[in-house]
Amino acid sequence: MNDSPPKNRYTPASVLVTGGAGFIGANFVRHLLENHAGLSIVNLDNLTYAGSLARLQDLPGGGGYRFVEGDICDADLVAGLLRDFAIDTIVHFAAESHVDRSIEDPAVFVKTNVLGTHTLLHCASAYWLTENGFTPQQCRFHHISTDEVYGSLDEHAAAFTETHAYLPSSPYSATKAGSDHLARAYFHTFGLPVTISNCSNNYGPGQHREKFIPTVIDACLRGKSIPVYGDGRQVRDWLYVDDHCRGIDAILRRGMPGETYNIGANDERSNLEVAEEICARFDRLAPQNGAHARLISHVADRPGHDRRYAIDNRKIERELGWRARVPFTGGLDKTIEFYRRRPAI
Ligand code: NAD
Repeated sequence: MNDSPPKNRYTPASVLVTGGAGFIGANFVRHLLENHAGLSIVNLDNLTYAGSLARLQDLPGGGGYRFVEGDICDADLVAGLLRDFAIDTIVHFAAESHVDRSIEDPAVFVKTNVLGTHTLLHCASAYWLTENGFTPQQCRFHHISTDEVYGSLDEHAAAFTETHAYLPSSPYSATKAGSDHLARAYFHTFGLPVTISNCSNNYGPGQHREKFIPTVIDACLRGKSIPVYGDGRQVRDWLYVDDHCRGIDAILRRGMPGETYNIGANDERSNLEVAEEICARFDRLAPQNGAHARLISHVADRPGHDRRYAIDNRKIERELGWRARVPFTGGLDKTIEFYRRRPAI
């Protein structure tokens, strides 16, 4: 299956990417610059602990890219950017994204994920619909969300479809669920042309080291203990970040306003299996360090830890011709190589 459009519905011209100094957002900015020459891109990010301009070094050339340091909660700033750069498209990644931090300090998750998303929706409606009278063919708001909004699945339960009930368990997933509801409400109430994607766990170059796969790789590189929550049998569907970026791009250009698309790799693995897979690679890369699996250490489980997420991909495959291309083994090799070369990110 290829990604050729069934029907070309939307062509962005001037894109505001929020959170583009983060892991997925930076990969998406690179994807846009590599695949769509001539696009104007404004990257708005307030560089929290999770944002880093190092991810944006060596971007492909082209005069159409700008970085703006600022907060998505700042309505004056957002409204000004929309006008100054004649933005017709928003791709919204900016969020507090780490579940463990949301347990320690939920308030900042409510502020950024709920109020920040609302600020963007409100400013986009005011500028596109009220000020300019744009039709749905002239503007687009794509909201990036997570499969975690659906809650936890039992071992043999069917994977999440787009109509699965929301049942978030952590402050992170609850605030992402709140932002999804607001995005949908702006479509239904005000006619803002919103699309939403709910994606499974991403991995790949440039992910913050607090996340699971970089943590395991980092521990293998340094010979440190590899912390695995509880019994390590929590199951996730790991998607390589480039595949996620292609999926977002497909939704932007060919998705229908008001629609939600789940994105996943159809490749479920437990955390323990992932840790063992990484250890096996380091056994080959650094045999002098002995068996890396001895570094695995089971630590107290995260409170309310969801057991399993699984994505039913059929809608985005059928309607938009998207499918994950990068197998887990190949994606893991590229990811390990990245962290071996770039210990600073
Ligand atoms: P990340 O934590 O790596 O990056 C988030 C970025 O947002 C950072 O650059 C940060 O500085 C910026 N940011 C935070 N608050 C901001 C604010 N108030 N104003 C402006 N910028 C702000 O996150 P990520 O892993 O790249 O995730 C990006 C998006 O994708 C999030 O919305 C997340 O919920 C979603 N998502 C992530 C995954 C995953 O596995 N990482 C899976 C599905 C969905």
